[in-house]
Amino acid sequence: MFISVLDLFKIGIGPSSSHTMGPMMAANDFRSRIYQLVATSSNNKAMHVRCVLKGSLAFTGKGHATDRAVVLGFHGYTPVALSEQDVNSLIAKLWATHSFTVNKDTVITFNPDIDIVFDKHETLPQHPNGMVCTLLDENKKILLSETYFSIGGGFINTLAEISQLNAPLKMESGKSFPFPFDSARSMLQMSQQSNYSIAEMKRANELTKLTANELDQGLDKIWHAMQRCIENGLATEGQLPGGLKVSRRAKKLFNQLHENSEKATLNDWLCAYAMAVNEENAAGHMVVTAPTNGAAGVIPAVLYYMVKHENGSIENVRDFLLTAAAIGGIIKHRSSISGAEVGCQGEVGSAAAMAAAGLCAAQGGTAKQIENAAEIALEHHLGMTCDPVGGLVQVPCIERNGFGAIKAHTAAALARRGTGDHFMPLDNCIEAMKQTGLEMSHKYKETSLGGLAVSITEC
Ligand code: SF4
Repeated sequence: MFISVLDLFKIGIGPSSSHTMGPMMAANDFRSRIYQLVATSSNNKAMHVRCVLKGSLAFTGKGHATDRAVVLGFHGYTPVALSEQDVNSLIAKLWATHSFTVNKDTVITFNPDIDIVFDKHETLPQHPNGMVCTLLDENKKILLSETYFSIGGGFINTLAEISQLNAPLKMESGKSFPFPFDSARSMLQMSQQSNYSIAEMKRANELTKLTANELDQGLDKIWHAMQRCIENGLATEGQLPGGLKVSRRAKKLFNQLHENSEKATLNDWLCAYAMAVNEENAAGHMVVTAPTNGAAGVIPAVLYYMVKHENGSIENVRDFLLTAAAIGGIIKHRSSISGAEVGCQGEVGSAAAMAAAGLCAAQGGTAKQIENAAEIALEHHLGMTCDPVGGLVQVPCIERNGFGAIKAHTAAALARRGTGDHFMPLDNCIEAMKQTGLEMSHKYKETSLGGLAVSITEC
């Protein structure tokens, strides 16, 4: 299996990769299909489009801005194109338009208040994040229909694609790559046989698709975007949108740490950096999927600390990202990075495993130590549920990223102090996460029907 580092880390907007970025890409894809249809049809009058959100997209889609994402997608926007825009004012304008054009002669009627349906009755059997887009004519005859699944991290599959796959993934076969590892075990074997580090193997795989220059520029762009997220979050205060009245805290915390830096701990800094990113995410601003939006603070926080406090170089950053992507790809291949599929263990747990591996690599850890670091970090997130209050990516998500970063840092340190030999292989830990996710009630998989989401007292 192969998933590019530049696909795993994607620049886009908050608050959710599966509930915002994925649905936006799906709506945008459906728009392209409409375009193709009208290009070959002479009867293009009075068409209108509907979008039915299923499963977790229906339950927490309001809080996760799925409806807004669908509007943006139908109007031709993509997450990366919006990362520099004021999305709120754009949305207000588009929402009131009640139509969109796919070419200069074809206007499709679309009233988001009526044509986006949150269907909480039936979850599609293939995946908890389903979405059905339909184009109808004036007699309500279906002209075009497609079912999409938002499978986590901003990735989407159509019904045909998801039906062909054992795991709900969209990846290339690893056969055409020099190091086609699809498990931690095969990764370690290949590293030992080739004498390549995990980052070097991942780089060699990437270079079958990209030039060295393109790869390094892509990695540097991701890192600069992550830095900007942190710095934007550290510079902003006020209340987050959505109605919970949650205040931003990262800026205040950061200022406190600066004013009294001799008393500031590693944990304090990591929390400030991670929370800064997730506050930006909750505000719907630019973030990088790492591997998801809900978990977007863990990896940037650990990287930022490494660069700002420990003199990490740009080469260290690149090795970190490549190693983290190798681990993220294995987790995505063997289990899931989607909160709707396996709970928060798949989001913040995966991010922590990736960050621990990346940090361990950047600090000169061996392949065995890196695998150990990822396993330690993931192991101590097993069973963690996804129960966001109000369906918003705020409570517990923002603080949880700080804790994910702390666990990642601790896991890398613990692994570096050992030989790499350890009891529980990473593959087994990933399998345990998958099984735990399968046995987890749907109440704890991004539906906001259980846990913290139903434990707030109104006052
Ligand atoms: S609880 Fe975890 S998985 Fe659920 S929305 Fe928040 S960060 Fe994502």
